[in-house]
Amino acid sequence: MTRVIALTAAAFLVLSQPISSPISDASDAGLGRAPGPPAAQQGAESTESAAAALLEERFIARENQFLKNVRSYSPRIETYIQNFRPDPELGSVPTDDHYFLGRMDFHRGVAVRSFLPQPSLARRILGDLADPITRFYSMHYQQQPFAYAILMDTRRFDRQHYQFEFVRREFLGDIRCMVFDVTPRRHAGGGLFRGRIWVEDQDENIVRFNGTYTSGRTLSSGIHFDSWRENVQPGLWLPVYVYSEEVDLAYGVKRTLRFKSETRLWGYDLARGNRQQELTRMLVDAPAPVRDSSDPAPDPSPVSRAREWENQAEVNVLERLEKAGLVAPAGDEVDKVLETVVNNLVLSNHLDALPPVHCRVLLTAPLESIFVGNTIMISRGLIDVLPDESSLAMILSHELGHIVLGHNLTPKNNQYAFHDRLLVPDEELLHHLDLRPTEQEETAADAKAIQILKSSPYKDKLSKAGLFLRAMAMTVPRTPELFGAHLGTRLAQGNQVRRMADLMASAPELQPTRVEQVSALPLGARIKVDSWNDRIRLVRSKPVTLLSAREKMPFEVTPLFPHLTRFSGKVENVREENLNQ
Ligand SMILES: [Zn+2]
Repeated sequence: MTRVIALTAAAFLVLSQPISSPISDASDAGLGRAPGPPAAQQGAESTESAAAALLEERFIARENQFLKNVRSYSPRIETYIQNFRPDPELGSVPTDDHYFLGRMDFHRGVAVRSFLPQPSLARRILGDLADPITRFYSMHYQQQPFAYAILMDTRRFDRQHYQFEFVRREFLGDIRCMVFDVTPRRHAGGGLFRGRIWVEDQDENIVRFNGTYTSGRTLSSGIHFDSWRENVQPGLWLPVYVYSEEVDLAYGVKRTLRFKSETRLWGYDLARGNRQQELTRMLVDAPAPVRDSSDPAPDPSPVSRAREWENQAEVNVLERLEKAGLVAPAGDEVDKVLETVVNNLVLSNHLDALPPVHCRVLLTAPLESIFVGNTIMISRGLIDVLPDESSLAMILSHELGHIVLGHNLTPKNNQYAFHDRLLVPDEELLHHLDLRPTEQEETAADAKAIQILKSSPYKDKLSKAGLFLRAMAMTVPRTPELFGAHLGTRLAQGNQVRRMADLMASAPELQPTRVEQVSALPLGARIKVDSWNDRIRLVRSKPVTLLSAREKMPFEVTPLFPHLTRFSGKVENVREENLNQ
């Protein structure tokens, strides 16, 4: 280890000087007056290039090791794309959107197994005709080009195909990196990466790459990517995020494509789980659990039996969603924040008889909320864009309305008390689960929610929530996929707000160009997901004063710069071969 650090430092020293300049004057001093470069200088040059070559060999080897390691994982991958048009006042305005969700499958190259129902052939063809971005990727638009951008080059990352030029040292977050420009060598072939890489200086992992692919790589050529990896376990860096943006990507005859997209990965530790370890521990050394003698009476009433049955369905659904990487584990700070708001609603409405209501976070971007049993689920994307607590209270009060009205006690909800109903592959789970309330129940829950809000601490701030709904109504025609609910029902459709629409009446006029009026936040504003174990936390960013309406970016994709740090938590379920140490 000491050797590696010393060598890295030497490489820094060498690389930070122009390759042809002598390392020091002192080395020249005693060397006579021979014509041409002094022998020692030649020696220094070859030492320099040898050190540079050695460093390159090391990060190339590390990258190729990474490519082997990453194949043992099947993270969840989500890509959200917004097409946009330039706007003189707002900078850009979304015009259309696309959403993909699935899991990576590295067994045969780089494949994505979609979690979403695939559109029919007829629809695909119609879509191909109507939609430029679809046509751009030939037959049908896929997540694949964005999935490729999590791995820089799977086959040819070596010194025969690439040349590297040291640029400078730079910190990414807390991580000191060496920055290199990477260009394909002449005659090295097509479809190669061209851009810049950041190599962390401890183990020489590539932690970020930014650039494009030369023509020849079927799907990703010409698209620009900024691709990030995080140190999720000791010595283990894995892809977590890709941002892409195009302002004038040419396609077809004289047409250009403009879009922003984000790809997120999480759920690296899902497949491993720790159930097997738990079982092993139990069989080896754990003492048998002691039965609590204060157990309730052995003859529960019909009401408590019905509640127990409903609770089983709830637990089953949540466990299955968590196992599929669609719901964050329970008990994180975000759940607590949500439960505090629910509690405010419950207490101010004297709903004390209600069993405890819990909150969980769906890890996906589309804006949706849904209940199962006494648990409310709300998506990461929805929490991101909500501008304030009263808007959050509005969303939660609707789900609470369902629970208060007993919509969670229907046979439809309780069908999942039977385990076999959830024994489906992850890919089929979202279209298999049917948690959607009926239209009638939705209307009743809205009415109940408004009643709850009006006697809550949020009653004087509901115009802000109404403003959020107005912003939603304006955005939904252009970003239907962002409002595409995959477990619940849609918040808005067409150009109609379908939930809590009555609150819009008391809201002020929407003023998109007025900088002071923030009706909705950009995506990625609030929630940070740990890509290894799916735990979530609130983003801790300093409030920034907006300078113009262009910085409001409601419901928009914005670039993310992960703050890189070295892993310092608890080591979990890492295979030996994946660790450097
Ligand atoms: Zn509802």
